[in-house]
Amino acid sequence: MLSHHPALSPHLPILREVFGYDAFRGPQQAIIDHVAAGGDALVLMPTGGGKSLCYQIPAIARQRAGHGITVVVSPLIALMHDQVGALHEAGVNAAFLNSTLSSEEASDIERRLLRGEITLLYAAPERVTNARFLAQMDSLLERGLLSLFAIDEAHCVSQWGHDFRPEYRGLAVLHERYPSVPRVALTATADALTRADIVERLQLESAELFISSFDRPNIRYTIVEKKDASTQLLRFIEREHPEEAGVVYCQSRKRVEEIAAMLVESGIHALPYHAGLDAGMRQRHHLLLSARQRACKLGFAFGEFWEDGIGFVQPFLKPAFDETARSSQVVVDGKIGQHPMPFRHCSDTGAAHRLGGGFAEVTADRAVKGQVGHASPIALISNGVPW
Ligand code: ADP
Repeated sequence: MLSHHPALSPHLPILREVFGYDAFRGPQQAIIDHVAAGGDALVLMPTGGGKSLCYQIPAIARQRAGHGITVVVSPLIALMHDQVGALHEAGVNAAFLNSTLSSEEASDIERRLLRGEITLLYAAPERVTNARFLAQMDSLLERGLLSLFAIDEAHCVSQWGHDFRPEYRGLAVLHERYPSVPRVALTATADALTRADIVERLQLESAELFISSFDRPNIRYTIVEKKDASTQLLRFIEREHPEEAGVVYCQSRKRVEEIAAMLVESGIHALPYHAGLDAGMRQRHHLLLSARQRACKLGFAFGEFWEDGIGFVQPFLKPAFDETARSSQVVVDGKIGQHPMPFRHCSDTGAAHRLGGGFAEVTADRAVKGQVGHASPIALISNGVPW
């Protein structure tokens, strides 16, 4: 792999002009240069590491060079919407094809797609591999307008991962049918079994492997023995995070309701949030949370919360630690004993952090400290799935 001087990357102008960032992070530049030049890549990078730019910048560069469209495979509608929204804000011609579109809207996007006007098109794996879409890609290929495939959340192809999506298996067709079109697969799951599965299932044997450091020193774990969990939680919030918004994860919906009620009784603004709430209630909670948190943007990822700029994460009662321990080296305050520690505090004071089972992601590096006041809500979340 060539090493590059930052100033020499031909893609730095895109990073600066389109995305407004000064410099590439970690291995981004090497990945971007490799993929933009038409190389296949498997990118393993922790959540928040900046994976999106690793295919978005090559997509833009290759579109500008006349290679046409990048098709991005994404497992969830919410992720597609977030990404496309952010790209639009940056002035990039991006679109998604999914079931939220009316048939007129979908036809319009297909027309633009076939005219080669779109730079990045996001779609779910089942869409990408259906006969109609394949025929459209054939047409693009014939005209030299099928530039790149980006397979996001590539661990979904592996049954070893927690997010196995059988439809991802069908993506092998991309390589079989379009061997000349480069592919970049991206994931935050770093374990060797999943990685080997991704390589085999997606036929990425000759792809360059880029593994980032999963060491995130500004994530602090504090592990304490559980005595009286509710009181411990309350003290943790009052003493260590009185000014901050945060998220508390519970194992069940019932527990979410109970803990929320307990916090409210103690004068903390807390909202229960789980799949059992009706849509109207969830919407109201969204509004409340985003209005009050101000520094926090709320959305969904993997059917769960995704938010920027929160001060702490409290995996309540159940370990979220194993997953992060597997995927990252962590700094642990206090001793990890031989016994399971059921009660865990996790303070995320800087970078990004993936919590148990891939359910939640927290990015604190964009938090505007001081903007979140005393009335900040504590959101309580349950995914209804035991960790
Ligand atoms: P991932 O997909 O790896 O979880 P994202 O692509 O969502 O991460 O990036 C995480 C955050 O970091 C985003 O807000 C993104 O805009 C920001 N980011 C990515 N690359 C850079 C960079 N080179 N400089 C500054 N911010 C960056």
